[in-house]
Amino acid sequence: MRKSFSLNDLMNPEVKAIPPSGIRKFFDMASAGQDVISLGVGEPDFVTPEPIRAACIRALEQGRTTYTSNAGLLELREAISAYLQSSFQLNYSPEHEILVTVGGSEAIDLVLRALLTPGDEVLVTVPTYIAYSPIVRLNGGHAVEVETFAEDGFKLRADVLKSKITPRSKVLVVNFPNNPTGAVMTEEDWRPIAELVERHNLIVVSDEIYAEMTYNGKHKSVASLPGMIGRTVLISGFSKAFAMTGWRVGYVCAGRELIAAMLKIHQYTVLCAPTLSQFAAVQALRSCMQEKDAMVDSFAQRRRFFVQGLRELGLACHEPLGAFYAFPSVASTGLSSEAFAQRLLHEAKVAVVPGHVFGQGGEGYIRCSYAASVQQLTEALNRMERFLKTLPL
Ligand code: PMP
Repeated sequence: MRKSFSLNDLMNPEVKAIPPSGIRKFFDMASAGQDVISLGVGEPDFVTPEPIRAACIRALEQGRTTYTSNAGLLELREAISAYLQSSFQLNYSPEHEILVTVGGSEAIDLVLRALLTPGDEVLVTVPTYIAYSPIVRLNGGHAVEVETFAEDGFKLRADVLKSKITPRSKVLVVNFPNNPTGAVMTEEDWRPIAELVERHNLIVVSDEIYAEMTYNGKHKSVASLPGMIGRTVLISGFSKAFAMTGWRVGYVCAGRELIAAMLKIHQYTVLCAPTLSQFAAVQALRSCMQEKDAMVDSFAQRRRFFVQGLRELGLACHEPLGAFYAFPSVASTGLSSEAFAQRLLHEAKVAVVPGHVFGQGGEGYIRCSYAASVQQLTEALNRMERFLKTLPL
C-alpha cells in the first residue's frame, strides 16, 4: 500500500514549532482594514533620500549589474569602517572585519549559524526584537530570556543577567537602542555587563541598527568598552538611519576568524548583498549625513509629541531615549495587551503591536511606532482617547 503523502509530516519540527511574526500579523490585519492608522510596523516613513536613489540609477545606467565580491564592495566596506570610526569610535578593518549582508536580518542569522552548536544557551534581553529567539532555535540553540523592567528604563541589569548565566551560556544578544522599548545603555550601564561577559567568556551579539536614533546624548556601543571589541559582534545597516528598508543592505563587524566563518555561509547561501543597493549605500555614507540628521530630528520631535500625548491619555509610558517606538503600559485598562491591540484595531482603527510578542515582560504593554506623520499621530491619539472612554476603568 502506498503511504499517503503529507508535506506537513516531512517538515522540520523546529520550523513548524516557531510562531510566525506577531508584528506582521497586526500589519496584515491593519492593511486589510479601511481607514486604519498603522503604528504597527517598524520602518521610517521617509522615502530614501534623493542622492541615494540617484546613485542607484547611475550604477544601473553604467551597467553595474554583476555580483560584487562576497564580502561586499570594498569601497562600501571602507566607507562603513570610516563611518563607524568617526561616529562611534570603533575600529574595524575593511578587508577582514566587515561583511556586507542582506539587511541586519541576514547578519543575525549568519552570526548565530556560525557560533551555535546544539544545546548552546543564548541569553536574549527581553522585551526585544522578535527575530532573535526563533533564529537561535533554528540553529539548535536554546534562547534564555533576560528580562528588563520599566522601572529601570528597560536597561539591562547585571544582577538579572548574572542570575541567568549557566555553564552552557555562550552568547548574549543585546539591542540598544531597543526595539520595542526605546531603551538605551550608557557607558556606566555597560561596565558591569562587560565584566560579566569577560568573566563568563561570553560573546556579545550587539544589534545597533537604531544607533543613530539616540535622543539624549550619543550612542555608546558595548564594543567600544575596554577589551570588548574582540568579544562583540556588531550588527547594523542602512534600513533605519537612511530610510532604506526595501534595499536590503546591512553589515556585520567582528574579529577576522568569525568574519571568515560567516563569509563561508554567506558565499553559499547569498553570494553577495544586492549590487545596486551597495552602490546606493556607499552614497548614503559619503554624502547623506545631513539628510540622516534631519530625519532623526524629525523623529525626535514626534517622540516628544507622541509620548506626551500617551501620558495625557493616562497611559504610563517610560521615556524612550532611542529608536522610534513608544512602549506604554495598558495594564491600567485591565485588558491583556493582545485584547487591547485587537480591540483598538477593530473598534478604533489604530494598529499597534501587543507587547507579549516581544518576549517575557512585554505583556501589559503595546508598541507604537511614532514614525508616522504628526497628523496621523494626532488622529491616532484622538481615536485612542475615544476608545479608552468606552472601557470600564
Ligand atoms: N534589528 C532590529 C532591532 C530591527 O528592528 C530590525 C527591523 N525591524 C532589524 C534588525 C532588521 O533590519 P534590516 O534587515 O532591514 O536591516
